[in-house]
Formats: sequence, structure tokens, C-alpha cells
Amino acid sequence: MFGCFPEFVAMHIAVIGTGIVGVCTAAWLQRDGHQVTFIDPLGPGEACSFGNAGSLSPSACLPVGMPNMWKKVPRWLLDPLGPLTVRWGYAPVVLPWLVRMLRHSSRQEVTRIAAALRSLLEPIFDCYDPLLAEAGAQSLVRRSGCLYVYSSRETAAQWQWGMNLRRSLGVKLVDVERDELEHLEPDLKGRFRFGILAPDNGSTSDPSALVKALHAHCVALGARTDRRRATGFERQGGRVTGVRFDSGEPLAVDGVVVAAGAWSAPLAAQLGSRVPLETQRGYHVTVRSSNLGLRHTVMAVEHNLMVNPMAMGLRLAGTVEFAGLKAPPNYARADALLKQGQQLFPHLDTSEVTRWMGHRPSMPDSLPVVGRAEKADNAWLAFGHGHMGMCMGASTGREVAHLVAGRPTQVDLAPFAPGRFR
Ligand SMILES: Cc1cc2nc3c(=O)[nH]c(=O)nc-3n(C[C@H](O)[C@H](O)[C@H](O)COP(=O)(O)OP(=O)(O)OC[C@H]3O[C@@H](n4cnc5c(N)ncnc54)[C@H](O)[C@@H]3O)c2cc1C
Repeated sequence: MFGCFPEFVAMHIAVIGTGIVGVCTAAWLQRDGHQVTFIDPLGPGEACSFGNAGSLSPSACLPVGMPNMWKKVPRWLLDPLGPLTVRWGYAPVVLPWLVRMLRHSSRQEVTRIAAALRSLLEPIFDCYDPLLAEAGAQSLVRRSGCLYVYSSRETAAQWQWGMNLRRSLGVKLVDVERDELEHLEPDLKGRFRFGILAPDNGSTSDPSALVKALHAHCVALGARTDRRRATGFERQGGRVTGVRFDSGEPLAVDGVVVAAGAWSAPLAAQLGSRVPLETQRGYHVTVRSSNLGLRHTVMAVEHNLMVNPMAMGLRLAGTVEFAGLKAPPNYARADALLKQGQQLFPHLDTSEVTRWMGHRPSMPDSLPVVGRAEKADNAWLAFGHGHMGMCMGASTGREVAHLVAGRPTQVDLAPFAPGRFR
């Protein structure tokens, strides 16, 4: 598409990380004619991009740290199975990060952050559609809308400020009264009496399959795969000339993109960008044969629970746990999601379920890091997408390709600058 741009130079670019962000970035770089080598010890879509809720939501522009959230945090922290918890041993490590997050939760900050997130979320489908079409993977994405549901209209009023902020940023939201809600989704009958429909939202029926399909298409077009763990870089002056690994010879490259999700910080630091990247661990439980016939993605707002009908069953996902990258999963949190699901949908058949934990790569301001590394002219950073990496993967990839090509970006990337925390 941009191959005839006057200053265009085709390069060999290493993309570190084959999650949704790395794979979409590689696909956009290939469209420009670059040679890509994927670097990842895991297969594509096997880390956080494996088991998420699969929602592709242009409406999801609110950060995690919302105004007045601090009032709820102490109660949450005391409940090890609550929506947000910190493992006690990890509390001293994460405390400064949490304080930072709360500092970004004023109304003024949330308004700024929401506008920035919306700029990457609004073009979700414009950025995914060409990649899906080329990979023949359109069937993995549907545009069926998302229902935010509440026990009553009065309860929904607690979240009105955020919903109005979404509306002010151009998100289409339609109030759905009880009768219509029951008509749209008969399985919600009884528990939920009010909803807000985001008709422009979509979802994927299998996030990992989506990543794998895009990756396979890149490989079919000539991308190479190196299944080693990147540990650092070879440098010459201000340029990266190679990627180093935990074993074997370095790989010579003309440029590098760090898209290693929650594991990106040590690599970014070597490129001059020290960033406060944390992991918000989240869980899912997938019910193989659910007895439910949901047609929309459903967000049960009071329960912080996302419910999505997927190819492999009904997925219930959510919660935030701060425990770092190394602690083993606490599957009691997944069981708690299942229990919630049983309460909300009493006829849910839970005889066959799978449980999973993933590491959301998270920044304290809920904005990803997208931009050139501070101390390398040919290294770019693309990570930290938190709760919205599936949503923002393709738009991030498009923007990184613009940066690599030296073209003007379509989104103002200033709010996502790697150096913003200095
Ligand atoms: C419960 C839950 C529900 C979620 N629901 C949604 C949702 O509905 N919608 C949404 O948009 N987002 C959702 N998310 C968030 C989303 O899953 C993440 O933001 C996204 O998957 C992050 O993608 P990524 O490519 O940055 O990272 P990952 O998918 O984690 O990929 C990073 C890759 O980098 C590799 N890597 C790490 N270190 C190295 C190294 N040194 N060398 C080489 N490779 C390395 C890893 O092996 C991994 O494959 C959810 C997350 C969770 C946990």
C-alpha cells in the first residue's frame, strides 16, 4: 500500500513477541514490504492473547483507575476472591504503582486518558479488516454488539459519568429497558432489568485462533520465526544491529519492535525507556456447553464480569490480581467467576469447564506504550495494552508501521510516548 512512498526503505525487522500486538504489527510492517522475523519462545497467541474475553470494543475507552475508585479499593483488597486483589507478599512491590494509578484517576485525568484510548479504539475494525481479509480470517470476528447490563436503571446511574464520557467521545450507546433487554437476550431474564447497548462493538470467537491465523498468513508471506527468548541487543552508536538470545548466535536486524507484553520492561530499559510496567493478572473460566444462547458480548457491570459466547464455549472473564509474573495462579479466583456465573445464569451447565490465568501488560495510566525507544533510532515499543490489547492490537500495529516508515501517524501518539513517566 505504502511501498511507493518516496523515502521508503525495506528493512529486516525483528518483532519480539507473538501476541496480538506483535502479530498485528508484523502484518502491518509486511504490508509495507518489510521482512519480518518473529521472536518468541512460545507459539503465537499462547500468552495473554490466549484466554482473554475476546471483546473488540470501540467503546472500551475508560481506564481502570476511575474517579472515587480509591474508596472501594480497601474493601476489595480484603477479599482475596474480590474483583481487585493484591497478594500480601507482593504488596510492597506494587504499592508505588497503585499510588501512581490512583493519581491518574481524577476526573480530569480520566477524561484525558479516555480521549487518548478512544483514538486507538475508534479505528479497531478499519485496522483489523484488511488483515483479516488477507488472512481469510473474517469468520473469527463478529460485529454483534455488547450489552452492559445492570440489576436496575437506578443502579446503572452509578456508572453514568463514565457512560456520558464515552458518549462525548463519539461512542454510540443505546439505553435498553427491561422488556427489550429480555427480548434481545432471553437468558438475561430475571437478574438484569436495564442495559446499555454498544451496537458498534464486536468480539472474536477465539482470540488465540485469531492471532494464529494472522501469524500463519505472515509466515506464508515470508516472515521467519525464531523460537528463542530475546535477552538484549547488539548496538552500534544509536542503532540496534542485532538481537541477543538466551542461547545461540545473535540475529542481525535493521530494526526491532518490542511487543513482549507484560515481559517487555527489561528489553525497553536496554533501549533507554524505563517504564512502570506491571501485570494485572486476570482469569477466565470457559464453560464448554453452557445451555445459554447469548448473541451479544455481555458486561455485567456490578459484577465486573465479561461474558462472551465463543467457539469453545461460554467464557466468563475478569478480575484483577497483583502478584507479579512469577507467582502461580490462584484458580480459586476462576472458580469464583464460575460461581458468579451460576448465580447470574442459574441454568448454566457447568459440568465441563476450563480455567486459565493471563498476565495483562499494564501501565498505571491505562495507556499503552507506543513509540520509538528513547535511546535507539531503529527500535520501537508496542506494549502495555492492559485490559484492551485485543481491541488495540491492529490499530497499534498500523501506527507502528507508520513510525517505522517515517510517515505521519494517523493517531496522535503523544499520550503513549515511552518517556512520559520520566
Ligand atoms: C482475563 C482477561 C480478559 C481480557 N479480556 C480482553 C478483552 O475482552 N478484550 C481485549 O482487548 N483485551 C482483553 N484482555 C487483555 C489482552 O488479553 C491483552 O492486553 C493482550 O493479550 C496483550 O497482548 P500482547 O501481544 O501485548 O501480549 P501477549 O499476548 O502476552 O504476548 C506477549 C508475547 O511476548 C513473548 N515474550 C515475552 N518475553 C519475551 C522475550 N524476552 N523474548 C521473546 N518473546 C517474549 C511471550 O512469550 C508472549 O508470547 C484480557 C486479559 C485478561 C487476562
